Amino acid sequence: MEQKQTINFGAGPAKLPQSVMLQAQKELLNYNGTGISILEMSHRSSDFLKVINKTEGLLRELLNIPNNYKVVFLQGGGSGQFSAVPLNLIGLKEDRCADYLVTGVWSAKAAKEAEKYGKVNVVHPKLDSYTKIPEPSSWTLNPSASYVYYCCNETVHGVEYNFVPETKGVVLVSDMSSNFLSRPVDVSKFGLIFAGAQKNAGCAGVTVVIVREDLLGHTLKECPIVLDYKVQAEMNSMYNTPPCFSIYIMGLVLDWVKNNGGIAAMEKLSKLKSSMIYNIINSSNGFYVCPVETTCQSRMNVTLRLGKREGDDALEKEFLDGASKRGMISLKGHRAVGGIRVSLYNAVTLEETEALASYMKEFLKEHQ
Ligand code: PMP
Repeated sequence: MEQKQTINFGAGPAKLPQSVMLQAQKELLNYNGTGISILEMSHRSSDFLKVINKTEGLLRELLNIPNNYKVVFLQGGGSGQFSAVPLNLIGLKEDRCADYLVTGVWSAKAAKEAEKYGKVNVVHPKLDSYTKIPEPSSWTLNPSASYVYYCCNETVHGVEYNFVPETKGVVLVSDMSSNFLSRPVDVSKFGLIFAGAQKNAGCAGVTVVIVREDLLGHTLKECPIVLDYKVQAEMNSMYNTPPCFSIYIMGLVLDWVKNNGGIAAMEKLSKLKSSMIYNIINSSNGFYVCPVETTCQSRMNVTLRLGKREGDDALEKEFLDGASKRGMISLKGHRAVGGIRVSLYNAVTLEETEALASYMKEFLKEHQ
């Protein structure tokens, strides 16, 4: 039974399942009969080793991660990975160049960071607005690139890939921060996947990296040792003190995913929730407008404008105020794009989405 009256549609840090919060609360002062909190526990203790191994084991099980992939838990967030990816992988080939798909602010930031370490080729013509994914037939991939990079779900704009890019054998890297654990992934198609935890997988502080073993060991010499995948993988993510509490919370979230039907169930739920909101947008006669092309509208972050395509600020403010009165918070779009953004991560329930859907219908009726 949900205790909270507040419905959190935030883009991250985001809602966590109620049962995870209750369990963390129950165990906070005395973890597993040890008499101390996870927050106070040595990362080298046998109790914590069980926690990190359990978290990794559940990730491997839920995502079917093949044995030739390492799983590491790092600090520095998704942004840390914008540096770590080129530092570890751009040296895979002599040319030191990488292909980037730039479909939103997060992949743009990643590309900019990579320029510090090698040559970056944006494989498609520059987009005027981040509302679409350029046709694969318009991409110019470089066969000598060390890797091809893309952001699977652009959190700010609500642009999500519903296909895995074809790279003709070049290593594929994906930032899955905001749609991780929301649908099955064939890990074997990727050289590397990373995801910050604070959307679907837990709280801020830890970033998961899943990397194919044979790609390790090509790190540039200037790579900070804490970001060196090979070092961290060999040391079970414990070259230095890992983000213990965040790893523990991720373990609880993964238990919750498993107990609620696994990744396939999360995918089903995400489709139900997002189509509920998109259906209202599509049948509103242009009152609500999603600026993103239909084929790449995100299941995780639904972006919309009210009143007209560019948005009517006063109307959007009224919408947000009304939502807030009903306990629905964090619906304001990212400052870079404005408008409304509805984040529907795994922990947001169908009932919560229905509450928003009825409010949207009501608001439409009153203002049409
Ligand atoms: N990638 C994506 C897709 C994101 O949504 C975010 C943050 N919202 C980041 C990377 C950056 O993550 P962090 O703030 O943890 O550095």
